[in-house]
Amino acid sequence: MTLRSYDDLLKRLDRIAALPTVNLQRLGSFEAAGRTYTMVMLELGTPGPGKHSVEVAAGIHGDEPAGVEAAVSFLERNARNDEFLSTFYGVVLPCCNPSGYELGTRENADGVDLNRQFATRHPPPEVELITRALEGRCFDLVFEMHEDIDAPGLYLYEIAESPDRHVGEKIIESVQAMGCPIDLREEIEGMKAKGGLIRRKSIRFRKTRLPQAIYTYRTCGGHVITLEPPASMLPFEERVKVEVTALTVALQSLLT
Ligand SMILES: [Zn+2]
Repeated sequence: MTLRSYDDLLKRLDRIAALPTVNLQRLGSFEAAGRTYTMVMLELGTPGPGKHSVEVAAGIHGDEPAGVEAAVSFLERNARNDEFLSTFYGVVLPCCNPSGYELGTRENADGVDLNRQFATRHPPPEVELITRALEGRCFDLVFEMHEDIDAPGLYLYEIAESPDRHVGEKIIESVQAMGCPIDLREEIEGMKAKGGLIRRKSIRFRKTRLPQAIYTYRTCGGHVITLEPPASMLPFEERVKVEVTALTVALQSLLT
């Protein structure tokens, strides 16, 4: 029994990629749960001098579909947005765990949490395809869309090489203004938190079996944000809006 159709998602992405400003790449295929899945990555606009580059990744946990929808919505709303396209270049991995997306499970169909499989000797095919596609590419901003089913409000992780790039407070302020509750606990997921913000120092991370965000920061440095809207506190559409708004605020901060 599947909850969602990855094929339907691919059809939607193919429609977006029919626009001249979007380029869809098939990264490769793999077998899971008796069927074949093809991973895709989309480029929004083109890189160029003076443009800011952003990578958006969603759906590495299959039970966090608002992130996937937000990534698709981000593509749809900016594919015809000249202002965006003249300022930014985007790379979008809209669904990093296709089998988990269909099953509605955090893990993939083989029961593996892909978000602990970066920087491993034998990564699962999903992780292998993602890391190969991103090899040698670094971005001004990396934005990962997650959700948390247990949290009483939204929180986010932010790592930035230069603290003057921090935009977490602005994101919290903006989503709170939309009516999104904020997780004000002083400890979240075993980490120190303040006002919904978890700011980690990369130096304290282990070297293997990394989450995608930490792997990206290890590889490229820069600025990485992981957003966790509260899945039990807001309806789906609201969570999608919150994800898109947070990403927009983060992108605006690149311009100042
Ligand atoms: Zn997640």
